[in-house]
Amino acid sequence: MVNVTGPRCRSCEHGDLRPILSLGRTPLANALLTAEQLREPEATFPLDLVFCPACALVQITETVPPEVLFREYAYLSSFSDTVVQNAEGIVRRLIGLEGLGSESLAVEIASNDGYLLQHYHHKGIPVLGIEPAANIARVARAERGIPTVCEFFGAELAAELVAGGRAADVVHANNVLAHVADLNGVVRGIATVLKPRGVAVIEVPYVKDLIDHCEFDTIYHEHLCYFSLTALDRLFRRHRLVIRDVERIPIHGGTLRIFASRAEWAIPGEAVKSLLAEEAAWGVDREEFYRGFGAKVERLRASLLELLGGLKAQGRRIAAYGASAKGSTLLNFFGIGADTLEFVVDRSTVKQGRYTPGTHLPILAPERVLELRPDYLLLLTWNFADEILAQQQTFRDQGGRFIIPIPECRVV
Ligand code: ZN
Repeated sequence: MVNVTGPRCRSCEHGDLRPILSLGRTPLANALLTAEQLREPEATFPLDLVFCPACALVQITETVPPEVLFREYAYLSSFSDTVVQNAEGIVRRLIGLEGLGSESLAVEIASNDGYLLQHYHHKGIPVLGIEPAANIARVARAERGIPTVCEFFGAELAAELVAGGRAADVVHANNVLAHVADLNGVVRGIATVLKPRGVAVIEVPYVKDLIDHCEFDTIYHEHLCYFSLTALDRLFRRHRLVIRDVERIPIHGGTLRIFASRAEWAIPGEAVKSLLAEEAAWGVDREEFYRGFGAKVERLRASLLELLGGLKAQGRRIAAYGASAKGSTLLNFFGIGADTLEFVVDRSTVKQGRYTPGTHLPILAPERVLELRPDYLLLLTWNFADEILAQQQTFRDQGGRFIIPIPECRVV
């Protein structure tokens, strides 16, 4: 008899994971295609969201090898003003709070194009970026002068850095913990690379916002985990780190920012205690909290398809804004393709000229909107709605409208 072993929890290795939502098989959300690749078959992978009743971690079951996912990652953080401003704000605070100076070291895991570390660099504080995507690490070095190690971060690299005299006063990890297959390895690495009084500042998508605001499109193969403070607390304590402070910030549709330090001296602050208590009251550590999410997503699909179908029937022309990973999940799962949308625009020059995975929409520069004049733009990067609506004021002044799909369809 074949012994079939199901997936195990990425945090605690518990085996009895409970299904929340299945998005079927989809192509990789960031696997943009060249014109030549349109003729080739696309690889697809199952996308199933599950809940661990033992440690409360919400996660997907499939692990696509990181070499496949991240080596030529197309997302440049600096193309979003919101992301750069968020980074500048937290850096300024930390320099003051931690009294950082020319003897300090700020490390960022998955440092992208140096969008965050540049703010330390400008103040004369030594930095080290760690970024596995070779093309993006090159941008950080060449355009921003940020020393960048082109590797995946884990306990081994952390030990090498410490042995080389590069222990960190501050470690940043923004939207990286959700991406790593070896969750415990990365948290162990953070515990290793921190100086005794160092602080890790970590931003992760907050599962409470995902569920409450129907942000199902933030589920894709790059995002392996969806965190509550409860799940993070259990994970960090396993590695002798204490979450001493926590903030809820609006970026990326709802983010938790935690501040963790060594258990030898740090204790959980009031904000941590109170959010843990709130989460217990909401029941984020119980399966019941996640029931009904699938039905909510189906209702959203029905209302968006009805809106788009109605507009097409009236002869309206529709395109999309934002060739984002979340856009890929939404279009593929809802079955919205080239028969509905003419094209998609995106500010990232790396994406322009390529095609969206699964749906094969051509990706153009945002300037083309005024020339091609669609009536509606489906906003796939709804998390940057304010920023994008402001940039597209001329389109709107000329009668163009945006359809914002999440948390519920609205036309603005
Ligand atoms: Zn678990």
